[in-house]
Amino acid sequence: MGVLDVVPAGVLTGDNVRKLFEWAKKEKFAIPAINCTSSSTVNAVLEAARDIKSPIIIQVSQGGAAYFAGKGLDNKNQNASIVGAIAAAHHVRLVAKAYGVPVVMHTDHCAKKLLPWFDGMLEEDERWMKSHGEPLFSSHMLDLSEESKEENIALCAKYFERMAKMGQWLEMEIGITGGEEDGVNNEDVDNASLYTQPEDVFDVYKTLSKISPNFSIAAAFGNVHGVYKPGNVKLHPELLQKHQLYAEEQLNVKGTKPLFLVFHGGSGSTKEEIETAVRNGVVKMNVDTDTQYAYLVGMRDFFQKKAGYLQTQVGNPEGADKPNKKYYDPRVWVREGEKTMSDRVKEACRDLGNVDRL
Ligand SMILES: [Zn+2]
Repeated sequence: MGVLDVVPAGVLTGDNVRKLFEWAKKEKFAIPAINCTSSSTVNAVLEAARDIKSPIIIQVSQGGAAYFAGKGLDNKNQNASIVGAIAAAHHVRLVAKAYGVPVVMHTDHCAKKLLPWFDGMLEEDERWMKSHGEPLFSSHMLDLSEESKEENIALCAKYFERMAKMGQWLEMEIGITGGEEDGVNNEDVDNASLYTQPEDVFDVYKTLSKISPNFSIAAAFGNVHGVYKPGNVKLHPELLQKHQLYAEEQLNVKGTKPLFLVFHGGSGSTKEEIETAVRNGVVKMNVDTDTQYAYLVGMRDFFQKKAGYLQTQVGNPEGADKPNKKYYDPRVWVREGEKTMSDRVKEACRDLGNVDRL
């Protein structure tokens, strides 16, 4: 039995998303969610997933989605972010099937001030629901962790009611993840609030589980977005076990790990920290910073190695009349970035035990 016995290849929606995460939890592995900003980065991720036989999560952030539509497009009223996320979803829908891997098409952190982006995507989901019987996206993430706990949960519940009508998955965040991402800067938050309490996690579970079982929680355990000098904040993935145990106790379902947990700010964490997180019911880990860097590495090395072939269209160290087209063709140098990014995605899959799973 493998993942393809549980869910089909291509973009998953409705209960298939939950079936995939249930399978991951049962088999004790997690799926990396790779931030993508272009068809090139999407393809690099799908290539990696196919090569090591893994299901995968592709996500676009609000900024990444706008970039997908083109940096030259005005993002007034979140227009570029809405259009770009939809474009990304269409690309992934078409291509993922060809690669033969199950994909969760997800959108990343949406803070309160970005809700018009969320609304725009949900409207498109509802349109798709009418014409195709499923939403366009597998899942969306609402990050209202900067608001009060009460407002965070209430607003998540309000949106989740709407999403549940389409069987759609919601990822929410409670507690504060440090660092900086898409303009939300938490670098100065004090350490105590970087660890979410089990009671708070269960409050989320209590409210959302009445609406639908299709949700996950990103609880803070000292996570930081992006890579910083180590030692500033200590990661404590063992705290996630407390959330599961508390929920089990409240629900009287011992040993079942009722919560689907998500690991944010995973870049730069140790293999041991990742293992502990997965053991405690983490089914998804966000990977952005490390794959961004990996995408650069292949291109950077190519430019350095082939510098003499990239100064003019014609003329290189082999002769003044030698053409350089086969060096400056973007299919050559962008491809080098795709290869190194793809390798980094494979590494993330290996860290999470997500290899040979199809
Ligand atoms: Zn987060």
